[in-house]
Amino acid sequence: MSKAEIVSCEPATGTEIWRGKVCDVDDTVARARRAWPAWAAQPLSTRMELVRRFANEVRKEAEKLATTIARETGKPLWEAHAEVELVINKVEISIRAYAERTSQRKLDSALQGTMAVRHKPHGVLLVLGPYNYPAHLPNAHIVPALIAGNVVIFKPSEKAPASGEILARCFSRAGISAAIMQFAVGGPAEGQAFVAHEGVDGVLFTGSANTGITINRRLATRPDKMVTLEMGGNNAMVVWDTPKLTDAAALIVQSAFATTGQRCTATRRLIVKASMYDAVISEVKALADRVIFGAPFDEPAPFMGPVIDNMAADGLTESFLYLLSHGGKAIKHLVRPDDSLPFLSPAIIDTTAMKDRPDVELFGPILQVIRVDDFDEAIAEANNTRFGLAASLVGGTPQDYNKFWANARAGIVNWNRTTVNPSHAAPVGGIGLSGNHRPTGYYAADYCAYPVASGEMEQPRAVIGVGLK
Ligand code: NAD
Repeated sequence: MSKAEIVSCEPATGTEIWRGKVCDVDDTVARARRAWPAWAAQPLSTRMELVRRFANEVRKEAEKLATTIARETGKPLWEAHAEVELVINKVEISIRAYAERTSQRKLDSALQGTMAVRHKPHGVLLVLGPYNYPAHLPNAHIVPALIAGNVVIFKPSEKAPASGEILARCFSRAGISAAIMQFAVGGPAEGQAFVAHEGVDGVLFTGSANTGITINRRLATRPDKMVTLEMGGNNAMVVWDTPKLTDAAALIVQSAFATTGQRCTATRRLIVKASMYDAVISEVKALADRVIFGAPFDEPAPFMGPVIDNMAADGLTESFLYLLSHGGKAIKHLVRPDDSLPFLSPAIIDTTAMKDRPDVELFGPILQVIRVDDFDEAIAEANNTRFGLAASLVGGTPQDYNKFWANARAGIVNWNRTTVNPSHAAPVGGIGLSGNHRPTGYYAADYCAYPVASGEMEQPRAVIGVGLK
């Protein structure tokens, strides 16, 4: 019987761009386990050299990788190029992070010898990738995992395997064999089978909260497995006393609509001081009206492309209608010019009057606006979510920001910056339904290796001082 296939299509046109056979889960894991001891035994300097070569290979393939990301996800070409840069930059960041966070430490004491702290890799790590950043986000786990001495099984999103395949090819051209960094095609069923597999020592996941919870539940009785969950958000931006309305509007539009709202850190809820509401909203609407949405290679270049597929566009349209029919007031309608394609316009809706706003991640270009009277109410509203990924304050005094920072429940808390574009030179992760306190970014080194504490002396030397006859 022929194996099932995964087919990837361009969101902007519906054209098929890639197809590949689903992997055999048992064979993939067995191959990884065979490869691990030799990879873990390589000197750290060799592993670092090889990931640096990988960065060079990505540089050589930059045009092809960016074009494939743009075709496969629908994001504009300029943005796909920016994603490729993130992939390359991750290598030096990870090398630095490994040295700073997991390097060997020794404490010498004349009486007790040496107390050493060294780190060991987990073994076979599974990386499950999302579709919105199909190269950068899996890579953000893969590179630190390899540096630490793990082998990796990389299962890309079934919606964006072609981009992942190019990434995998760059690893193998760099001399990191296809057994050390295995590219494993599959969908949720293969993801589940890998997660449950005895031969997998840990799961590094980036994706939706629902999937993350499923994985967490599946591994609840397996404390021996490392589980890192990077999930979604229902992120808030608070706009408080600021005269800089043009800048504020630019931050809001970028935060809500970059990547067509398909970013985990995108602003979903804009919380505005009532006295500023009209001025802020008219500025934001005017800017959102100017946003070009189109196909990735259009000229002039669009600000945002389509969402990933028609199912996502249908779901977002339904969600917008739900908000409208439950008390939301449209400031800018969600428009889908062609029902057969997943292009959506930026949409803005005031949901202040809604009784029960659904606390879900609407992964697309829909911005809800909530009007509040005082700053405490603004912070309470920002925290009115089970998620906790990103929050930003635009405007306000340093005292306001201190208060916002101290009380905002999120892993990323910014001031006069977007909620999007988190730096991988810092930890990236959230609390609540957004993550499990194992942030990626700079702190990925922490979950890719475990510390071993060793008391060491060259010769046995011990005294029992009391309690002997
Ligand atoms: P998803 O959860 O649908 O899929 C992610 C990966 O998990 C895919 O590879 C998929 O095949 C696999 N998978 C699905 N079901 C599985 C199961 N039961 N067991 C094991 N694996 C399974 O996510 P998506 O739709 O591809 O990505 C969008 C989501 O990712 C959004 O919610 C977004 O917020 C989130 N995200 C989070 C971050 C972050 O850093 N926190 C970054 C980007 C995206």
